[in-house]
Amino acid sequence: MAKKKIKIDKSLCIGCGACAGTYPDDIKMDDDGLATPINGVADEDAVDVCPVGAISVEE
Ligand code: SF4
Repeated sequence: MAKKKIKIDKSLCIGCGACAGTYPDDIKMDDDGLATPINGVADEDAVDVCPVGAISVEE
């Protein structure tokens, strides 16, 4: 699956770590305990691992 530009809404993120655990090359947990993109891109399926819909793909 091609990597796409993603956005993580920190106001929605609950810091569960599922995204960073599944896509450690693309998403990391920030110092504030919330997820942040490493290079701004990730597999578009990363959207589906977030239980609260905080990750979105920017077309
Ligand atoms: S999966 Fe969603 S709620 Fe969990 S850390 Fe990632 S962005 Fe935050």
